[in-house]
Amino acid sequence: MNDSLFTPVDPEGIRRFLFEGAGVRGVIVRLEHSWRQILGRDQYPENVARLLGELTAATALFAGDIQLAGQVSVQLKASPLLPLAFAECSPEGHLRGLARWSEGAATSSLAPDALPGAVLAITIERQENGVRYQGLVPLQGDSLARSFEAYFAQSEQLPTTIHLAAHAGACAGVLIQQIPAEGGIARERDAITFEHARILADTLDASELLGLDATELLRRLYHEDDLRLFDANPVRFHCRCSRERVAAMLRTLGREEAFAVLAECGQVAVTCEFCNEPYPFDGIDLEQVFASETLNAAPQRAQ
Ligand SMILES: [Zn+2]
Repeated sequence: MNDSLFTPVDPEGIRRFLFEGAGVRGVIVRLEHSWRQILGRDQYPENVARLLGELTAATALFAGDIQLAGQVSVQLKASPLLPLAFAECSPEGHLRGLARWSEGAATSSLAPDALPGAVLAITIERQENGVRYQGLVPLQGDSLARSFEAYFAQSEQLPTTIHLAAHAGACAGVLIQQIPAEGGIARERDAITFEHARILADTLDASELLGLDATELLRRLYHEDDLRLFDANPVRFHCRCSRERVAAMLRTLGREEAFAVLAECGQVAVTCEFCNEPYPFDGIDLEQVFASETLNAAPQRAQ
């Protein structure tokens, strides 16, 4: 397991804010150290890195979204150019992510219309009751951000505006949302405030999103509005892989298959794709893994 105590923290990683007197809330995310930890685990082509950075920033935004309140993972899948981009953020701000790409990806467009059939899966595990649910939305519009907005409109019934940006040094995003209100007058007031917030957020460019901290960014956009900015939630790169999880994965692979790999390679070497932590298993290790099989009959995720 990659020990989070030794990974650098983004102290201002996630910051929530609200418009005083209106049902409009927002989240700002700006990740440097944690993003560079993700980026440093592989040799990502620039365009794949940008897309993974935007996906990672979005995942942290959703983890900071009080309406969702849980462990969030976002997965982009089903495109031959980019078989997988994945990011995950816990309510404690533990973040990890990765992408897999094919040879042609570096020189291809990764815009939504160049990835037909690609689907975004957003999985939220509610903190209070542990219930997991997943929403699916096709990759659409002219950006990842537009696809996520469509998700919130369809699945959560919440008017939402999202902006995302990433480069090698940072990934960042802002999300603004009109939350459900009691009564028509409140809803109307909130809709006006949300529309005002959305129009101003549309004037942001990527360099501002990546370069300004939350206080500066809100001042730049909403200096005439009464806003409350909450304390920051730190974010750090943290992988929750473990030897036990890898052992559980080997059990689902099966004794025969695992020992066949051992016979061929001399050991079973599993490397975590998120943090590059190696988990080698020799013959004695494998005997122990499968001896405890009956005690751990339920299949688990490997990582
Ligand atoms: Zn790991």
